[in-house]
Amino acid sequence: MAKDVDLFVIGAGSGGVRAARIASGYGARVMVAEEYRVGGTCVIRGCVPKKLLVYASRYSEEFEDSAGFGWTVPEPSFSWAKLIANKDKEIDRLENAYASNLEKAKVEIVRDRAVIVDANTIKLVKSGETIKTKYILVATGGAPSLGKEIEGHEHIISSNEAFHLTELPKRILIQGGGYIAVEFAGIFNGLGSQVTLVYRGDNILRGFDDELRAHLRTEMEKRGIKIVTKNIVEGVEKVDHGLCVQLSDHEQILVDKVMFATGRRPNIAGLGLEAVGVKLGLTGGIAVDDYSQTSVPNIYAVGDVTDRINLTPVAIREGHAFADTVFGNKPTRVDHSDVPTAVFSEPECGVIGLTEAQAASGLPMVDVYKTTFRPMKATLSGRDTRTFMKLIVDGANDRIVGCHIVGPDAGEMIQLVGIAMKMKATKADFDATMAVHPTAAEELVTMRTKSHSHVRQAAE
Ligand SMILES: Cc1cc2nc3c(=O)[nH]c(=O)nc-3n(C[C@H](O)[C@H](O)[C@H](O)COP(=O)(O)OP(=O)(O)OC[C@H]3O[C@@H](n4cnc5c(N)ncnc54)[C@H](O)[C@@H]3O)c2cc1C
Repeated sequence: MAKDVDLFVIGAGSGGVRAARIASGYGARVMVAEEYRVGGTCVIRGCVPKKLLVYASRYSEEFEDSAGFGWTVPEPSFSWAKLIANKDKEIDRLENAYASNLEKAKVEIVRDRAVIVDANTIKLVKSGETIKTKYILVATGGAPSLGKEIEGHEHIISSNEAFHLTELPKRILIQGGGYIAVEFAGIFNGLGSQVTLVYRGDNILRGFDDELRAHLRTEMEKRGIKIVTKNIVEGVEKVDHGLCVQLSDHEQILVDKVMFATGRRPNIAGLGLEAVGVKLGLTGGIAVDDYSQTSVPNIYAVGDVTDRINLTPVAIREGHAFADTVFGNKPTRVDHSDVPTAVFSEPECGVIGLTEAQAASGLPMVDVYKTTFRPMKATLSGRDTRTFMKLIVDGANDRIVGCHIVGPDAGEMIQLVGIAMKMKATKADFDATMAVHPTAAEELVTMRTKSHSHVRQAAE
């Protein structure tokens, strides 16, 4: 006889794990299937291993900068193999912790691929077992999308493989302009690779504030990253001393590795969604309402597979809200507004709210405050680098509606700006806050002079 549960979760990533644990806490009988590794993208091949590599990559600047502070450091040497082994050990530890937390919460884990047979039936692909369930939560995340197949595509890696390279490439070409592309450019550059970043648009980080994009690009170029825009990779050929990359402007570049970070697509293939009547949205993710309910009433979906805001904390919130709504008798919508986010490039970016262009086109009056300055540490280190900060203020009510930072610890700063913005802080509230001196963050509360304003003419 088929096993019977209240909730079957497909995918033990950020959203699925949270939903499973909370639903089980409400007394539901929960089973979660994972076809790869418990923890999902964030833990296994996303945020966590990426941040560990970012930490590793930053030591090279630290060694260089220490000289101005009186240190003499012997010529540092670096072992990629040791970094990857230590990173893998930590990821194993985390995977076990995730699995044991699920078990402690009385969630049954099945290490198998799950597909939907009908609205109340799941099939496990390897074991062939069938499970009957009252509710299904699709939390299958996303996967790298390498675009259309080009000549030599078999030589191209994605972020998935970048975490497991057997050696550090001396020269790497990364195609893409999103956060994963710029983060990996910083990682490889910091570790000593020669990095070329190729992007089809006119500047990196499309969708971010234009001045932040320009500032980050300059800083990345100062660190030796070659950024080639308005270009795409047309082919990759294996040659004697590496890979020869053909760009659309006819330039050829010789490298050891080619990585594409050209976006991610929701993991929906072969899940059985179509047969059961689950509708997709315009961008190819599963279409859901404010409660993450799909077009089939007892099937819900959370996280990257819905292609709303593809970040771990958002997937976790959506998973939690789903469990509260369906099993906790507390209907909960996730507030997707003003989500703070970081780009762990070198230097780091922290961003929340509207860009200047969005504010100028959406609000009648906008005031802009901004500053660039040499971080204090750079005075003695002699490093040629500048921090950038910008506050976007709604001129009608003085509310802060956007904040954009490029500089060390920008990710840490933006988390706290996020609280202020959720509390609807005004520029006057920022001004009334005493500075912490000497820090970079104090600039956020000491920008007194408006840089410029936008006033939208009323339609006649
Ligand atoms: C390189 C990289 C860096 C990132 N850095 C950050 C960051 O710094 N900060 C941040 O907030 N976000 C970051 N993200 C995004 C973040 O990882 C995702 O937003 C988050 O993991 C989404 O969680 P999820 O639950 O939707 O899916 P996932 O975490 O992707 O989990 C989905 C799980 O479902 C499993 N699965 C899929 N299909 C099936 C099936 N049919 N049966 C069984 N199992 C299945 C998959 O194997 C996977 O484990 C990064 C992503 C990448 C790729």
